[in-house]
Amino acid sequence: MSGTRKTLTFQGVGASPGMVLGRAYTLDRARVSCPTRHLQGGAAEIRDEKDRLRAAFAQSSEQIGKVHARLDPQSDQAQILETHLLILKDPMFVGEALRLIEQESINAEWAVRRQVARFKGIFFDMENDYFRERFSDIEFIGERVLRNLLGGSDALDVEGEEIPEGSIAVARDLSPADLATLLRRREIKGIVTDRGAKTSHVAILARAQGMPCVVGADHISDEIRRGDLMALDGQRGTVTVHPSPEDIEQFQTKLRRRLASEQALHALRELPAQSQDGVRVRLMGNIDHIAQLPSLLAQGAEGVGLFRTELVFLDREALPDEEEHYEIYRAALRALDGRDITFRTLDLGADKMPHSAAAITEREPNPALGLRGLRYCLRHRDIFVTQLKALLRAAVHGPMRILLPMISSLDELREAKACLEEARARLTKEGVEFRGEVPLGAMIETPSAAWSADQLARECDFLSIGTNDLVQYTLAFDRQNREVSYLYLPLHVAIVRALQFAVDAGHTAGIPVSMCGEMAGDPLCTLLLLGLGLDELSMVGPQIPIVKRLIRATRADDARDFIERLKACDGDAERDRFVREEMSRRFGDWLSD
Ligand code: PEP
Ligand code: MG
Repeated sequence: MSGTRKTLTFQGVGASPGMVLGRAYTLDRARVSCPTRHLQGGAAEIRDEKDRLRAAFAQSSEQIGKVHARLDPQSDQAQILETHLLILKDPMFVGEALRLIEQESINAEWAVRRQVARFKGIFFDMENDYFRERFSDIEFIGERVLRNLLGGSDALDVEGEEIPEGSIAVARDLSPADLATLLRRREIKGIVTDRGAKTSHVAILARAQGMPCVVGADHISDEIRRGDLMALDGQRGTVTVHPSPEDIEQFQTKLRRRLASEQALHALRELPAQSQDGVRVRLMGNIDHIAQLPSLLAQGAEGVGLFRTELVFLDREALPDEEEHYEIYRAALRALDGRDITFRTLDLGADKMPHSAAAITEREPNPALGLRGLRYCLRHRDIFVTQLKALLRAAVHGPMRILLPMISSLDELREAKACLEEARARLTKEGVEFRGEVPLGAMIETPSAAWSADQLARECDFLSIGTNDLVQYTLAFDRQNREVSYLYLPLHVAIVRALQFAVDAGHTAGIPVSMCGEMAGDPLCTLLLLGLGLDELSMVGPQIPIVKRLIRATRADDARDFIERLKACDGDAERDRFVREEMSRRFGDWLSD
C-alpha cells in the first residue's frame, strides 16, 4: 500500500523493454478535438442540435449493445457494459445535456463535454473510492458519444496539454497515428495500453523508439487516475500501480542490474556478428524515422534493413509530395554515410492510414486482408509513382534498395516493376538526375509469397521476410487482437518450413535473403535463423547487442542440427520447452533479466 491506495499489479505483454517509475498521464479521449460553438440559428438550429445529440446517444447504445450481446451475461465485462447502457439512458446525463443545448444555445459536443466535467466534480468530491472510480465509466461513455458526434474521427490531440516530466501515458488503445502524436511529447517516458499484442504496430513503434511499453494490460485504463504512481517493466510486461516503498526499492535494484548488463553488451559494438565456425550475418536496424539513426548506429547496426516509410506521415493530414519524400530519403542516405539502407515503399492500409488517405479509402470490413501495402499502391498509382520517383532521385546519394510490402502474387511484383519503369520514364522526360538501377526486393509476408518465393526470387534482387505478417497470415490470427495473441508462434512448424523454403529459394536463385520482422530480433529465434542461413537480420536497435552475442557464441552447423530437433517437436508446449531448455543450456542466464 502507498498512502491509502491499494497496490495493484497488471500483467500485460512486454512490448518494448525498459523500466520506468512515473506518474500516470491518462489520455482523456473525451478531449479529442471537441469543437465549442454558440448556436446562432435560433430555434431550428437548437432543434437540429438536440436531434444530433439524441442520435449520437442512440448510436452509442447500439454499439455497446452489439458488443454486450456477444458476451457471457455473467461476465464482469458484460456487467460493466450494462452499467454503460444505463448511463446512456440516465436523465442526469442526456437530459441535462439537452437542457444545456436549449438554455445556453451551445453545440452538442460542448454540452456533452460540460456534462462530463460536471460529473467529474461531483464524483471526485466523494470520499468513497468506489464512487470516485465510477467516474471512469461516465468518462468512457462521454468519449464514445463525442466520437459519434464527430463522425468517427478519433485523432488524438495533446498539443498544448500540460504533461508533467516523466509521465507514463495510459490509454485504452492507441493507433500508430496516436502514438506518433504522443511521442512528440518528450515528457512521456513510458506507455501502457489495455489493448494490443506483441506485434501490433504500436508495440513495434514503441520498440523502435526505445520507449518502454506494455500493451494488452487488460482494463488498466479503467483502474488508473491521472497522477497515480506506477512502476512499468516493459520487458516483463508488468505494471504496478501505487507501489509500496519496498516495491520501489526492488524495482530500482532490478533497474540498476539491467543497466549494468546492457553496458556489458555494448562492449560488442565494433565486433562482427559471426558464428564460431565463420558464418557472417549482417545485423541491420529497423527505423521509421531518421531521428532514430544515431542511437541505432550506436547499438551496432551495420545499416538500415527496413525503413518503414509510411510511418513518417501517419500523424499528418496529407501525404507528402515528391520533393518532401526526396528530402527525407536523401537525409537518411547522408546520415548513413555510405552504409546500406532498404526503403520499404508505403505500407498503407489496415491500421496505418494518414487522415487524408483514410478519406480516399472506404472503410473495409476486414482491413488486414484488404487494400494494404502494395495492393494499395497499385490501386493509387499516382501516390506510388510519386514515391518511386523520389527514391530513384535520392539513390544518387548513396547505396540503397527498394522493398515492396505485402506481395501476394508474381503479377503484383511485375506490376510494381512497371510502375518503377514509369517513374524512370517520367524522370527522364523531366530531365532530373536519378539512378535507374536500384536493387528491388519482395517482402515475404503472405503464405502465398513464401510458397512461391522461388518464382519471385527469379524476378527480383533480394527477398526480405516480414514475419509479423507472415505469422499472422499463416496462423490466421489478427495481430492487433490480444484475445488471439497466443497464436503469435514464430517457431511453429508451419513457419519454420515456410522460412526454410523461402531462404532456400532465394539462395537457389542466387540472391540474398533478409528478415525484418520482429522475429529477427527475438533471441529465442536466433539459433533457428542462423541455422536457416539468413544473410541479414534487421531489428530494432536495442535487440542488436544480444542477438550478436548469441551468434558469436554459436556454431552454424550446430544451429542446423537444432532446427531438425525443433521440427521434430510434437506440439506447441513441447516445442516451447525444448527451445527454452536449449537456450538456457547453451547461454545460461544471458536471456533472463
Ligand atoms: C512484418 O510484417 O514483419 C514487417 C516487417 O512489416 P510490418 O510490421 O510493418 O507490417
Ligand atoms: Mg508487414
